[in-house]
Amino acid sequence: MERIYFDHAATTSLDPEVLEKMLPYFSAEYGNADSLHALGRKAMNAVDEARDKVAQLLGAKPNEIYFTSGGTESDNWAMFGGAYAQRRLGRKKVLVSAIEHHAVMASAEKLSEDGFDVQYLPVTASGKVDLDLAKTLLTGDTALVAVMMANNETGAIQPVKELATLAKEQGSLFFTDCVQAAPYLPLNVGELGVDTLALSAHKFYGPKGCGVLYIKNGVKMDRHILGGEQERGLRGGTTNVPAVVGLAAAYEKTVRTMQETNRKLQRLRALFLEKIACLDGVCINGDENGLPAIVNLQIDGVENSAFLYKMDLQGVCLAAGSACASASLKPSHVLTAMGLTEQKAKSSVRFSFGKDNTEEEILRGAELTVETVRSLRNF
Ligand code: PLP
Repeated sequence: MERIYFDHAATTSLDPEVLEKMLPYFSAEYGNADSLHALGRKAMNAVDEARDKVAQLLGAKPNEIYFTSGGTESDNWAMFGGAYAQRRLGRKKVLVSAIEHHAVMASAEKLSEDGFDVQYLPVTASGKVDLDLAKTLLTGDTALVAVMMANNETGAIQPVKELATLAKEQGSLFFTDCVQAAPYLPLNVGELGVDTLALSAHKFYGPKGCGVLYIKNGVKMDRHILGGEQERGLRGGTTNVPAVVGLAAAYEKTVRTMQETNRKLQRLRALFLEKIACLDGVCINGDENGLPAIVNLQIDGVENSAFLYKMDLQGVCLAAGSACASASLKPSHVLTAMGLTEQKAKSSVRFSFGKDNTEEEILRGAELTVETVRSLRNF
């Protein structure tokens, strides 16, 4: 049975060109980047090059780029590091959008337990943060605002630039999780006006377990991992040189090929939607102008767990939403924040396409979707 992978929002395969660039740092060039001898210096050169490359791609300075173990760690650091540093300046309010990833949501809950006044920014029915409501909630006592660039379940793109401007007017820190946006949207920290920004390599055909936190120069952030002097003393721990090299190579290729990839994904997405249009009782959760890779479908009369199970048996890899919540029986917090009932949220499925999907896979995937929905409805 051929496997069809439509779960690129959960993770992507490692690009063979990226793997090629990583391989020497697992073997011949195994030095610790902090060792002063030649082998160590060679590793540090590779890390410096990677940092320069990522900085250039984001429009940042190299000393504003911090390598982490992935999106979750970057999110945690941005939330805790930013909020605690701001609390010492007398600010205690934290605003997060109601549709953030669990890495941000769980951090916000912990901040609330630690005495912060955490409030959630509501979203519209199409899954975008409501700017008017945000304006009323964002006041001068706000320490930190966290709104992702694009949502991982619906692909809805958020008004980050506008929100970052509002935050700046109030002297609040602004953090954006760009983990899902990075493969599809050009990102420039200056244009966005953000203070901190997170990336994760495995969402753009890089290795798992490696991410970035951009921290604008001058922004006060608490130390995150106590240990050695790595990452300018803020995040201790021996640098994962192969992963950092892979992250930079993968991001460079992603940005270089972005337009072409997006055009392909738009075509594939439209083809998929055209082929399933024969089904009634199906609608899209989210915004028509969201990320080109993601389609979140609400399928009346179908429970998503049964649908995913049947599709998996036929070789199609799909998800109901965030992989981090796939063991949970709760309906998606993203979809319920958009106003869906629990039942409608539980009949929603996320298709996320990728650069290597073919037209044949889309046609076969759509055909299996139609058959499976019909058979579940008859049952
Ligand atoms: N933020 C978003 C929006 C995500 O989609 C994910 C992963 O699904 C993460 C953060 C976590 O990233 P990582 O898997 O690198 O920890």
